[in-house]
Amino acid sequence: MTANLDQVKAHAEAAWTLMARHKVPPTAANYAVWYDYVSGANEALRRSLDVLISNRRPLDESLCADLFERFILPTWRSDAIEGVATGLGELTQGVSQALGEAGAGLGRYGAALDRASTALDGATDTVAIELVGVLKRETEEFNRRNAALQAKLDFSANEIKALRDRLAETRREAMTDGLTGVANRKRFDAALREAAAAAMENGSALSLIMLDIDHFKAFNDNYGHQLGDQVLRLVGRTMIDSARDSDLSARYGGEEFAVVMPNADLEAARGLAERIRHRIGKRRIVRRNTGEDLGTVTLSAGVACYAFGEPVSALVERADAALYRAKQNGRDQVTTENDMPADGTTKATV
Ligand code: GH3
Ligand code: MG
Ligand code: MG
Repeated sequence: MTANLDQVKAHAEAAWTLMARHKVPPTAANYAVWYDYVSGANEALRRSLDVLISNRRPLDESLCADLFERFILPTWRSDAIEGVATGLGELTQGVSQALGEAGAGLGRYGAALDRASTALDGATDTVAIELVGVLKRETEEFNRRNAALQAKLDFSANEIKALRDRLAETRREAMTDGLTGVANRKRFDAALREAAAAAMENGSALSLIMLDIDHFKAFNDNYGHQLGDQVLRLVGRTMIDSARDSDLSARYGGEEFAVVMPNADLEAARGLAERIRHRIGKRRIVRRNTGEDLGTVTLSAGVACYAFGEPVSALVERADAALYRAKQNGRDQVTTENDMPADGTTKATV
C-alpha cells in the first residue's frame, strides 16, 4: 500500500508539474489525461500527446477536452465512473493527509530551527550560522511547494465531489419516470427483488399494490393527451403523498402504477390503495386555461402479499389478477387476492 501510494504520489506530482509546464488548466478531466500519460497506462494517449508536444501544439481547453473524450472517457464504463471517482477521492484524501502530516512535522522542525538560530545569535561560528540559514531557506521552500500541492489537491477533491454529485444525480434521473416523478419500471423491478429478499431474510410481510386508471383511453380521446398527462402526474403525486417513506411508488407502464410496501400486510396495503383511490376520486379535473370542469377520474387497484420463496413475478401476477377482478367487478374499487375465489368466480354479498 505504501509503495503504491508513493508511486501514485510520484505520478501525481509529475502530472501536475507537466500540466503547469504546458499551461494546462488544472481540472479533474485534464488531470485524468496527464495522470494516465505519466503512468504510461494508456499507450495510445502517450503517443498522441508526445506528437502534440513535439509539434508544439498549444494544449488549450478544446484540445484537452478532445484528449479526454478520445482517450479517457471510453475507458470509463458509466457504472465504473463512480468507483473511479470514489477511488480518486480517497487517494486525494490520502495524499492530502500525508502532506498535512509532513507539513506539521516540518512546522515543528522550522520552529526548532528558529530557536537554534536565536540561540546562535551573536555566535561567531559562521559555518553553523550559515548551515542554519540554508536549512531554514530549504524548509521554507519545501513548505511553499507543499502548500501549493495541497491547494491543487483540494481543488481536485472539490472537482471530484462535483463529479460524484453529478453522477448521483444522473443515476437518480435514470431511475425516475420523467413525466410523473415516481420511480420508473427499472427501479420498480430492482426494488421489488430487493424487498422480496429482505422479507425472506427478516420474515417480514411484503405487499404489492397495482393501480390502473379507469377508462383512461376515453379520457385521452375526449380531452387530449396533454390533460391525460396531467392526470398521470396527479396520480404520481397522490401516491407519493399517501404512501409511507419506506414504500416505493412507481409507474409500471402507461397508465398503470404500483406501490411496493415492505413490512405491510394485505390489510395495510388495502388501506393505502383505498386512500389513494379516494383522494384521486374526489379531485375534480379542471382545464387550466378555460376553467372547464372535466369531472373526476377513478382508479382500480389489486393487492397481493408476498409468499416467501416464490418468484416476484408470481406476486406481480397475483396483484394483476386482483386488479383485473376489480375492473371486472365495475372499476373504482380495490380488490385483494383474498377477495378472489380460487376457482376464478366473483363473490357476491347478498
Ligand atoms: P380500463 O379501465 O380497462 O383500464 O380502460 P383504459 O381505457 O384505461 O385502458 P386501455 O388499456 O384501453 O387504455 C390505456 C390508455 O392509457 C391508452 C393510452 O392512450 C393511455 N396512456 C398510456 N400512457 C399514456 C401517457 O403517457 N400519457 C397519456 N396521456 N395517456 C397514456
Ligand atoms: Mg386503464
Ligand atoms: Mg392499463
